[in-house]
Parts: sequence; structure tokens; C-alpha cells
Amino acid sequence: MSEQAQTGAEATEAKPTEDPKAVEAPAAPVDTKKIQQILAANNGARMRSWLNICAHCGLCAESCFFYLAHDKDPKLSPAYKVKVTTGELYKRKGKVDRAWLEEAHEVIWGQCTMCRRCSMFCPFGIDIATMIGVSRAVCNSQGVLPEGLARAKQNIIESGNQMAVSEEDWTETCDWMAEEYAEEIAGLEIPIDKKGVKYMYTVNPREPAFYPQDLGQMAQILHVAEESWTVPRQGWDGTNLAMFAGDAAVAAIPVRNMYQAAIDLEAEQILMTECGHAYRSGAFEGPYWLGLPGGRPPVPVKHAVQLFWEYIVRDGRIKIDPAKMITEPATLQDPCNVSRNGGLWQMMRDLARALCTDFRDMDPNCEYNHCCGGGGGFIPMGAEFKARRMQSGRIKAEQIKATGAKIMISPCHNCFDQLNDLNKEYELGIKVLSFKEIITECMIIPEKFIVSDNGD
Ligand code: SF4
Ligand code: SF4
Repeated sequence: MSEQAQTGAEATEAKPTEDPKAVEAPAAPVDTKKIQQILAANNGARMRSWLNICAHCGLCAESCFFYLAHDKDPKLSPAYKVKVTTGELYKRKGKVDRAWLEEAHEVIWGQCTMCRRCSMFCPFGIDIATMIGVSRAVCNSQGVLPEGLARAKQNIIESGNQMAVSEEDWTETCDWMAEEYAEEIAGLEIPIDKKGVKYMYTVNPREPAFYPQDLGQMAQILHVAEESWTVPRQGWDGTNLAMFAGDAAVAAIPVRNMYQAAIDLEAEQILMTECGHAYRSGAFEGPYWLGLPGGRPPVPVKHAVQLFWEYIVRDGRIKIDPAKMITEPATLQDPCNVSRNGGLWQMMRDLARALCTDFRDMDPNCEYNHCCGGGGGFIPMGAEFKARRMQSGRIKAEQIKATGAKIMISPCHNCFDQLNDLNKEYELGIKVLSFKEIITECMIIPEKFIVSDNGD
């Protein structure tokens, strides 16, 4: 494992499997019965109403960054994209050929990040992202999906996590980070499989794979807050790229592992790293994939932003040194699955203001902020999608430029990579940071945790 942290999207891409055949698309013919089953399973009252109610008013078009970034190409309006994919699937009763599926693949993965911004502007609240998700499920069922997502799925099946990090690598990284960061904070530990704790902490596999310092920083914060916590030996991957592949069966694997680990460890809550789609998967979608009653996880799920807000803004359990606050102009990305779809936009702003003396919001912001352009699985979909990811990210780049910010806060690994790539592409001159990184720089370390010169 490299100590050198990678930057950009390459760090998030799923580790290739040894056997290339394992990710090959199955050959034709198309399994029409399977497609019809998926369509039938999703053909509830809401879907039928969405399919029939669209007035083609075009109000959703201006909300979509793909449409805006491509000179308002009508083919990139949300209503059009859903009409030619999911609408067409229902119209044809699932009878489509492989060429049709390949064309749909371009639209559903290459022209929509499922950010759900368009639904905020549709007078009927049509959920375009959910409808696009049905087409993703159909294409996935026929082996038509981006290679990066296929690899991630295979890794989940084989190892339980999307980057195929071994249990040995995971636990060694925890031990390594505990040792390193104990040199800065006295008594720091990263407990593994400790029972009866308040929080079972889960991460994004790119942390043990490429960004181990993220784990060390979180351990610093939890230790200074004198929190009761652990990481699990199994079930530590909070992320879920199978969700973006439209594969509910594979998506159920990591959430089942995570919920089970929390139950076995008798943890009160599951705590998630700064990752947007992990939060969506664990807190909102996971219970449905597992058929849990009431659509609620068996153990409550908390995003890191919520915990940091409680520590710093609500309870003062972590104190910020005013002399160490960020003074350069700073702005904040609203990850779609933390903000618009997770409801945490105000907490993020409270935190940003508690850590930065010159916080400048983007316009639009909060639940109306634009997707970074790397969501919906776009980043791990790989190099073949990078050019359009950069082109469509122009709207986000312009938003950032307008703030004059030099610091960009991103409470999501996925946005972090996209923002770094946009920084290079559009020469934004920003530094992208997570909340963890800023908090560990600004927090006051109580006397008892200060490491003395002789190492005690
Ligand atoms: S969900 Fe987002 S990316 Fe997809 S069509 Fe709507 S606004 Fe565009
Ligand atoms: S805003 Fe709603 S009703 Fe109007 S075109 Fe878009 S999806 Fe259809």
C-alpha cells in the first residue's frame, strides 16, 4: 500500500479483478422477460403517474447542469432523457434490442448523475432520477453498464467492498494510523471490533487504499471528543457503487454486512465518513434493498457532518482555536446525497462558519446547489467518461470562480475528486479540503492529550 496519497478520480476507481471474463458483458440475446420483470416491479402508481403527467413544459431543463453546460441542447433536458429511456422501455413493453440498450447506456450513465435537482423545479415533482434508475437497472440486468461499475460490483461480490481491500490491509491500516497519530494525540487508538460502543465507524475503501490519513484524522477528532467508538473488522465499507449500477441485489451486500456488524457489536449508531452516496445507501436506500419493515436501518445511521456539528456547534465538545481558523476565502460544495437528498445543508454551513472567518456561499446553494458533475457513479465509471465529466462540470467551475474562494470544503469523497479535477481543468486556484482535515488543524487539543517531548 502506498503512503503517497493519490489525487483525482484515479484514486477512486475500482481495483480491476484478476479475471477479465468476470466483468465481460454477457452476449446477446437480450433477456426480455428479465427486463419486463424489472419494469413490472417498478410500475407502481407513482411511476405510472410520472409517465403520464409530464406536460413537456420544459421547466426542468434549466435546472440540469448537463443541459446548461452544453449550450442548452434540448436532448439533454431531463424530460427528454427520461422519455427516450425509461419512457420508451415502458412504451415498448421491454422489447428492446442490444443496440437500444447501448444507446440508453450513453444517456443514463453519461448524461445524468441522478442528482435530483430537476425534481425541485418540476411542478409535478416528477422524480427523473428514480426513473433513470429503472433504466440503469434494466441495462445492468443485460450486462450493459460502465466497466468501472462492473468491476466495483465484482469486487463487492468477491470481497465485500468495492475496491477489494483485504481484511489484512484494512486492519493493518487501522493499526498503522493509530500508531502514527498517537504521536500527535496522546493515547489515541483505533479500536477494532470493540463491543457496546456508541459509534461503529465506517469508511470509503479509498481511505485504506489511498487516503489513510482520513482515518487518522477521524480518530483524532473522536479521541479528543472522548468518544466511545470502534471500527468493525468486517462490514466497514459504507459505500455502494452497485447502487449506481442499478443492481439492488449486489447493493444489498455491503449494507447487510454493515448493519450486521453494528448489530453484532451492539453499537448504538453507525457513523459514516464524509461520503455522500454512502450516507444515501446506508441511511435511506439500504433498508429497502433488504426488505426491512418501515424502510429504516436496524441501527441509526449518522453522517460525519452531523457528528461534527454536534461536537462543535451544538455541544462544544470540540473547541476551535480562533487563531487557527481558516482566513482565506472559503466555499462549500453541497454533495447531492448529503445536502439535497440528505437534508444536512444547514449543519454544513454552521460548521463552515465555525471553522472559516470568510465563508462565501455559492449561488445557487443548499438544496438548490448544482451537482459537482461527478455524482451518480460518474467518477468510478473511469477514464472514458472523463472528458464529458469535465465539460459538464463547467457550471460548477463557474459557481466556484464567482465566489473568489481559495478553499473548497467537500464533505464527500466523490465531490472531492471531481473538484480537484475541475480545479486543474479550469485553473480555479483552490485547495479542496474535507471537514476532518480542517477540524484537526483548528481544534484545541486539551492538555491531557498533548504529547510531551519524551513521547508520553
Ligand atoms: S437528475 Fe440531475 S443530472 Fe439528472 S437530469 Fe435531473 S438535473 Fe440533470
Ligand atoms: S418540469 Fe416536469 S412536467 Fe415539465 S417537462 Fe420537466 S418533467 Fe415534464
